[in-house]
Amino acid sequence: MFCVKCGAECEDFEEGGILRQRCMHCGYIHYKNPYPCIAVLVVNDFGQILLGKRGEKSIYPGKWCLPCGYIEYDETYVEAAAREIKEETGITSPPDGIINVVSNQFDNGVHSLVVVMISHYHGDEPLKPGNDIIDAGWFDVDRLPPLAFSADVFIIGKYERMLEKGGITMLTLEGNSVYGH
Ligand SMILES: [Zn+2]
Repeated sequence: MFCVKCGAECEDFEEGGILRQRCMHCGYIHYKNPYPCIAVLVVNDFGQILLGKRGEKSIYPGKWCLPCGYIEYDETYVEAAAREIKEETGITSPPDGIINVVSNQFDNGVHSLVVVMISHYHGDEPLKPGNDIIDAGWFDVDRLPPLAFSADVFIIGKYERMLEKGGITMLTLEGNSVYGH
């Protein structure tokens, strides 16, 4: 590979048992980290869950998933959640709290760290699939379509199990963004 800072060639070196790449010209070390992502369990007043069907260019095309995506540099993870819901399904539904945090290591080599949130939706906007999502729908938890991610299967199951106990435990979002220091 070539250095993202200066374009010179990089060399492999080992640091604490991890193989990394270092620029032979400027010394810049290319750390490889998981991608920060969000996913949202959006639940309506009927207890149904909002899912999107994945398009041809996605991994696991044709399968369904919770609204999800990468956090952009200029937004908080909470803003990313509201944006992805809007882009992928057309509705406005800000998240209410965190219900899980997952390390996803996929078959294609992508490693993401996903903050999973819940959003309680009370509106009746029509669903409009967008981005890499080709269909969107509300589903009863006992009649789910084939899901792309086992992390989604887990969190929907947990939500269902905890309904009888008064609802899923969530960490609220106060203090979720810090600016300056
Ligand atoms: Zn360099």
